[in-house]
Amino acid sequence: MPVVSAREMLVEAATHGYAVGAFNVTNIIQMEAVIEAAVARRAPVIIQTSVTPTKFLRPEVIAAAFRALAEPAPIPACLHLDHCDDVGLCQRCAGVGYTNIMFDGSKLDFDENVRVTREVVEYCHGLGDITVEGELGTVSGVEDQVRVAETEAELCDPARSLEFVERSGVDLFAPAIGTAHGVYTTENPKIDFDRFEKIQKIVNGQRMIAPLIVHGGTGLKPEVVKRLVALGGAKFNVSTDLKYALIDATCDYISSHRKEYNPGKIDVAAKRAVMARVEYWMDLLGCAGKA
Ligand SMILES: [Zn+2]
Repeated sequence: MPVVSAREMLVEAATHGYAVGAFNVTNIIQMEAVIEAAVARRAPVIIQTSVTPTKFLRPEVIAAAFRALAEPAPIPACLHLDHCDDVGLCQRCAGVGYTNIMFDGSKLDFDENVRVTREVVEYCHGLGDITVEGELGTVSGVEDQVRVAETEAELCDPARSLEFVERSGVDLFAPAIGTAHGVYTTENPKIDFDRFEKIQKIVNGQRMIAPLIVHGGTGLKPEVVKRLVALGGAKFNVSTDLKYALIDATCDYISSHRKEYNPGKIDVAAKRAVMARVEYWMDLLGCAGKA
């Protein structure tokens, strides 16, 4: 199936009451696992890479692997760059086949965030159908080794949401609402549902301008995820969950087959474990069966 833009995929999700999983991968085994899980569950899917693995593997290699895996698959798929604050890397990824770019200007003040996000939007739209995600407020936790304490995290101001979306021109909007990267430090993280609902109403109440994105999916209780989907969350980012699946399955396989020297079997065990988590998320988000 042709590789599609995330905007198209997420407007479809938001208007039909489900969300699409956006899964962070750090290697090709994980990428294969995510695509195969999407085929098994007949779900649209977004593969994303954060900045460190993108630089390590190189955007050209990731985009080529993505095309080779996604184009023959009978489901729509996107390749997304996650949380990038480097305009040059955003442009490089857009130029080699990423279909969506997230410029993360959340550390900048409002006007500067708008200005630089707009620069990325203009570049990406100028190349064709490459869509851009912007963030307002700060998602707490660890993203690519950058630690933001939960107390420091400032949530998205609903009153400025529409202004941000309109002035920056973003296609997808990630408002900080209390979800966190990494593993939640409390059993019941404080998610600001009212804020999320208000933002959805302000930004997408009249017509769908920019589908809302939820970061920090790992560890959210199923009822929390379902409530956010019902309120308009169209893309859920899942990263830590897949890292745990990959590393735990790899460790378990090696420790129970310590005398076996067959990397392919380790890969199969890791891939199965990642696929199981991806399929769990697709069922929970309601996107299974939607492709
Ligand atoms: Zn994130």
